[in-house]
Amino acid sequence: MSALAAEALLDQPDLQPAEVVELEQLLAPTLRTSGSLVLCQAEAVTLLEAVASSVAGPGNRVLNVVTGPYGSLFGGWLRRTGAEVLDLVVGHQGLSETSFREALLGMDTAALTQAEAATGANLDLVGLLGVAREVGVLTVVDAVAAIGAEPIAVDDWGIDVAVIGGQKALAGPAGVSAAAVSERAWRRIENNPAAPRSSTLSLLDWADGWLRTDHSRIPGTPSVLETRALLAALRRVQAEGVDAVERRHRQARAATVAAVRALGMHPWAAQGRRAAVCTTVALPDPVPVGLPGVLQPGALLAPGDGPLAGELFRVNHFGRAADLDAVLGGVDRLAGALGVPANSDAARQAATQAWEETG
Ligand SMILES: *Cc1c(COP(=O)(O)O)cnc(C)c1O
Repeated sequence: MSALAAEALLDQPDLQPAEVVELEQLLAPTLRTSGSLVLCQAEAVTLLEAVASSVAGPGNRVLNVVTGPYGSLFGGWLRRTGAEVLDLVVGHQGLSETSFREALLGMDTAALTQAEAATGANLDLVGLLGVAREVGVLTVVDAVAAIGAEPIAVDDWGIDVAVIGGQKALAGPAGVSAAAVSERAWRRIENNPAAPRSSTLSLLDWADGWLRTDHSRIPGTPSVLETRALLAALRRVQAEGVDAVERRHRQARAATVAAVRALGMHPWAAQGRRAAVCTTVALPDPVPVGLPGVLQPGALLAPGDGPLAGELFRVNHFGRAADLDAVLGGVDRLAGALGVPANSDAARQAATQAWEETG
């Protein structure tokens, strides 16, 4: 960024309560909820820690469905509260409703991740949350990687707490995050003596300082730049339409899968369990010499995270990269890296056709 553009970030007017109200109004249809929303002045990982610390405590029994690294972190935060936590490690294979129902026996809370950016896999939340509603457990969903890429219907699906961030499919900033919190979840948190109060990890502070007020004053010192950037991102999502943004991510997934196949490689996540936020691709064996050189953390073409680096690479087609031209650019670079630039045209054609056929 140029020094001049960076300077535009300085001397901004204070964040106005009306901007926070507008943020809430734009978040509601994105999460499809009419319930209360909590804003967090930190990235989603902090809010996830705040949620784990708030909903659980000694006496709670929590089923933590682990589909990737974020689920493991969440289990650690839950355990720290003194709750009894069962980590159900299901990896990227998905979880059947029958297994979920069995694992929920004796539990009062279930934590699930809708989609994982690390594995490129998702869960069938509609079915699983149907089971959770029948059993009556409180549900917490990490929707950070799903929001904007895959539909989420907080109210209809009966999700008690859904955490989101701006930095993935919403094409916004990473520095602030938000959660939808149901009435039932508020009762759980209020009655939990272990729930943080007067703390960075407190949800109750936001309830007292904002939700239950006349909205004339924003509590604390808000992150002006990040909050304003999230507002701008949500306005852009609203202008395009949440459904259209989600469709663009489905199209990017379909186009990427088609191109990957046309280049002789295979998607890593199973059919039907592929997240719309990014596509993971099984590393060819042997690894083509040119491939590692085109993979960069955080870029469209990125290596696998941690232990997954030896198994897969990622095509991060989210946010502004959920775009046909962006995907086709990635296809060209991949064809070059694989040493088959002549196959690029066929892969581009497959990608374009899949994009157009995806509704
Ligand atoms: C990306 C992501 C987050 C947020 O991680 P950051 O480090 O804040 O980007 C949380 N949960 C899941 C499942 C994610 O994919």
